[in-house]
Amino acid sequence: MKDSKKYKNHPKKELKKRAAKKCTEGYTPTAYDLKGHPTFKSKKNPVQSYTTKMTNNNIKMIDHHIQLPKLGWIRFSKSRNIEGDIKRVTVRRSSTGRYSISVICEMSYSPYKPSTNDAVGIDLGLKEFAVLSNGESIANPKYYQKYEKRLAFLQRAFARKKEGSKSWEKNKAQIAKLHEKIKHTRDDFLHKLTTRLVHENQVIAVENLSVKNLVQNKKLSKGIHDASWSRFNEMLAYKAKWYGRTIIKVDPFFPSSQLCSGCGHQHKDVKSLAVRVWECPSCGVCHDRDLNASLNIKKEALRLLSLQSI
Ligand SMILES: [Zn+2]
Repeated sequence: MKDSKKYKNHPKKELKKRAAKKCTEGYTPTAYDLKGHPTFKSKKNPVQSYTTKMTNNNIKMIDHHIQLPKLGWIRFSKSRNIEGDIKRVTVRRSSTGRYSISVICEMSYSPYKPSTNDAVGIDLGLKEFAVLSNGESIANPKYYQKYEKRLAFLQRAFARKKEGSKSWEKNKAQIAKLHEKIKHTRDDFLHKLTTRLVHENQVIAVENLSVKNLVQNKKLSKGIHDASWSRFNEMLAYKAKWYGRTIIKVDPFFPSSQLCSGCGHQHKDVKSLAVRVWECPSCGVCHDRDLNASLNIKKEALRLLSLQSI
């Protein structure tokens, strides 16, 4: 009785905050397995983690070794050099048993890429991952297809297995591992692409894809493509913020593929996705569907931008 009264006086939000604080701060693992890896309290959660805060210089890093409180020195493979002061370190174990460390640092930030005068329009698609208005086309990574097939195969097998059986567990682990691999390779591809785009261009124009997605995508590949497109836009957005670039999102109903990028004539026959190349009936210029679309997206973005600055 007393207890419930005590909790009643706390708004729910406050309780949640406390719980969150408990989870993220000051919790150091109390038990370790034979290899010296921390073991975690709830075994059921597929992703296990703990965070430790920097106090009195108790976290140090030299080359490929990091010193953590209670754990001591651990060897790890470093993805990039640490800049600034270390604030917090989180150790995670993924559902596939891989350990990763993320280090949060504080640093004074200055955008080190000089501004450019370049603008680029991007047409995202299924056939090519993207076609840029400068004529460059970026192919869909080949592993997409490979992984899709393997994933479908594993999932079909998984559906047949008896829940809780040994092979069910094994299958489950294989699927989790593949999902992780897809995520890592996809992120790697997208990081490299978005970083390059943001470094090279001051204005980046993309289509707001939410509506287009729903209409065009009925394939098996839906999941991977959807995830890639939204991750791509996310990455562009935050990287643009870092470097002071402008992202312009063009309305999904803007007929980017139907307009002639030369004379502006709207050619409705291009609506069908099967039309890859077409000739403008008004000015006679021959267009590649995706390149023409990206040119229109760039044009439209610059028009929107000029309206903003007036
Ligand atoms: Zn034309």
